[in-house]
Amino acid sequence: MSSDSDIQMTSRGFFCSLCNTNLPNKPSVDQHVKGRKHQTLSTVRATRKTQEEHSVFVSGIKPEISQSDVTEYFQQFGAVTDVIMDKDKGVYAIVQFGETESLQAVLSCVEHKMKGLKLRVKPREKKAFKLIPKKKNDRQNLQQALDRLTPELCQLPSVDAQIKYIVERFQLGENEKKARSLLVQLLQEVFVEFFPDSQILPFGSSVNTFGIHSCDLDLFLDLENTKVFQSQARSSMEQAGEGVSDDGRSEDSILSDIDLSTASPAEVLDLVATILTRCVPSVHKVHVVSTARLPVAKFHHRELNLQGDMTLNNRLGVRNTRFLQLCSGVEERLRPLVYTVRYWAKQKQLAGNPSGAGPLLNNYALTLLIIFYLQNCDPPVLPTVDQLRDMACEEEECEIEGWNCTFPSQPIAVQPSTNTQDLCSLLSGFFSFYAQFDFASSVISIREGRALPIINFLSQTKEDEMMQEEQATKTHPHGPKLGPLNLLDPFELSHNVAGNLNERALRSFQKECQEAEKYCRSLQYQRKSTKAKSWGLVRLFTPHVEVQHNKTEQLNISIPFKSTSLPEGLRDELRVAGDAFRLPWFHKVCSAVEVVLRAVLRCHVDAPPEAVFSEDAAVGAEDTETTSASVSALLNDSTESVESQKEACAAVVGAKRPLSSGSDSPVSPQGKKPRWTKRRKPELPPWTCVQKHMVWAGRRKVRRELLKGADSKPEGSCVELESQVTASIMDKEPELREPVEFKVQPLMAGGTESTKVLLKLEPSDDKAGVFHDFFHFLEVFLPKMVETVLQSEGGCA
Ligand code: ATP
Ligand code: MG
Repeated sequence: MSSDSDIQMTSRGFFCSLCNTNLPNKPSVDQHVKGRKHQTLSTVRATRKTQEEHSVFVSGIKPEISQSDVTEYFQQFGAVTDVIMDKDKGVYAIVQFGETESLQAVLSCVEHKMKGLKLRVKPREKKAFKLIPKKKNDRQNLQQALDRLTPELCQLPSVDAQIKYIVERFQLGENEKKARSLLVQLLQEVFVEFFPDSQILPFGSSVNTFGIHSCDLDLFLDLENTKVFQSQARSSMEQAGEGVSDDGRSEDSILSDIDLSTASPAEVLDLVATILTRCVPSVHKVHVVSTARLPVAKFHHRELNLQGDMTLNNRLGVRNTRFLQLCSGVEERLRPLVYTVRYWAKQKQLAGNPSGAGPLLNNYALTLLIIFYLQNCDPPVLPTVDQLRDMACEEEECEIEGWNCTFPSQPIAVQPSTNTQDLCSLLSGFFSFYAQFDFASSVISIREGRALPIINFLSQTKEDEMMQEEQATKTHPHGPKLGPLNLLDPFELSHNVAGNLNERALRSFQKECQEAEKYCRSLQYQRKSTKAKSWGLVRLFTPHVEVQHNKTEQLNISIPFKSTSLPEGLRDELRVAGDAFRLPWFHKVCSAVEVVLRAVLRCHVDAPPEAVFSEDAAVGAEDTETTSASVSALLNDSTESVESQKEACAAVVGAKRPLSSGSDSPVSPQGKKPRWTKRRKPELPPWTCVQKHMVWAGRRKVRRELLKGADSKPEGSCVELESQVTASIMDKEPELREPVEFKVQPLMAGGTESTKVLLKLEPSDDKAGVFHDFFHFLEVFLPKMVETVLQSEGGCA
């Protein structure tokens, strides 16, 4: 399967042309060839080759010919193992035979005729197997797009003018809007034929005032009136005892196939997809995504080169689009900010999930984040949704699926803001706002215009979560699905609009906000360059660059507060602590870190010599409100009253207590309460740890061996297993000649940044670079393992 010809010698070693990989030396070549990637690709290549040698290319087919027609015809030459039809046009097929003899038989036949069609049959083209390289670098594309924009942006006189230019450059033009509305009209005409009294309503970016040239066309097919029509037609047909409805439609019209009052959205959407495919000119690539939160029929319009999404039951989507339109009308600075932030997020690859699903922000969520920021400016630029509700009159009252969706229909009903900031400062304000935002401990409420403490949402029981999974009815409120970023929909208050975001996506978003904030403080942002250099928005839009690991960088491991993975007992405990929840959580995490280092990785963890409070030293993280405490403090913190914890936290103070000194029992001044020191940044004498074995090397292999025959478990998901892995490595491998010695200092961050425990690590000496390897292992392993320890009862006791 694998062949030596895949490996070529180069000036810098070797190159594997199958896997497109450079290899430095012979041992790495040997390892590579035995590795999974090379083996898999070799197998795929061999399979493809066999397939090619056993199949023919058939053209001259018509779309109405089915796969079974083709199979049936070619069976006469020998057993057919597979038929691949070209789905879109149905004009060619690849027919694969079980035996090569069949291939010869089919090719030697002079004329192939099937169902009156003359088929052309030829051997399949032999293509060299090649690993398809990843698509052209996204970053390059983004940079090219920016390069085209740069000359115009740079010559404008101010950042405000640049921001306005972004709107002009990207907004949907009048002709585009007209074309979209004509398509909606056409769809309406077609659909009403099949679904009488139905309505097609556009929502999302085509109509919310934030649309750009390439944006999709979101449509809601409203079948409420069709349901009424259908039930009336059925009862009148039953009365008349006939097969013909009162509007003359025969029983076998499309509506008679389905009972809208009981059909599932997926069933209705299948029908919608059929109508789109068969009856709407220029519409192609139709498919249903029934796994989405709102199942959708997707299609593409050839002439308009437009992607369309048709959903059912989406009255809330239409209403929140109206809400965005209103906000745009009330505050003219919103539109330019939305266009600019959307473009920035795209350049930094923070937003946009190509297939609709993914871990990044979508444009709706991003727009809500901007609105929330504007609600929180001083003075506010936009009112809260609750305030808007109070400004509406009686006729404007609106309730959808049990949610209050009332707001004024006209911007004139809303008092203009007294905030006079220009776009330039509002934009930089947006970045500062989210650069420091404590996402981990907040639930963003556009409704109330403030961040609600996440602690209020932790009461959600497992039952609630299960109900949510099963798509509990919308009229039955339950808590939102919590995640790294919690952003409540303005109306559907049980829905976290950013529930799809993962930790990594949020971290990137916040990091880019911090970078942007820093840049916006520079003169380069605020002032036009006199030397024709890039300035203002241009540098802000430079595509995301992976930062090289800096050797002098601080060795910090961060363990974020994850509301979603807290065990039930700890959730309850934190809820009792209220706003002061960070301290008890910090205690638990530190305790778990100690368990991981000591029990799982068999580090020797040393306590400082004396249990003293040292008030003089300052914590390293200058801009961070920090609190630190010792591991032993954690173990008996239940004796501490919640009130004292609250006081402590409110004053941002630190506790200095002794560590457990190697034995199992914690050593701390018995009965003594910790001394909290106001305003002084605390420093706990750090833990000194010694690791005598390379417990990080080869863990995956050892784990696999230990699990032989059993179900595989991901790294860090089981305390016992990981301890066994360590023990096994220690048994087999000799001790390190020079043990790795390092210090660990736990700090707590939160309030003015995302709540997390920061572990600052410092090796006493790392000339051989061994600690660096250990650190990189810990960076990934520790947070996962701490989560597991917290969840296992023993671990957090
Ligand atoms: P674009 O299509 O340019 O990306 P958009 O404003 O249309 O931007 P979409 O993500 O397509 O944004 O969303 C369209 C509409 O779908 C929104 O106006 C909203 O009504 C609804 N929507 C999108 N995402 C969510 C979500 N996460 N939760 C609730 N509704 C959503
Ligand atoms: Mg859209």
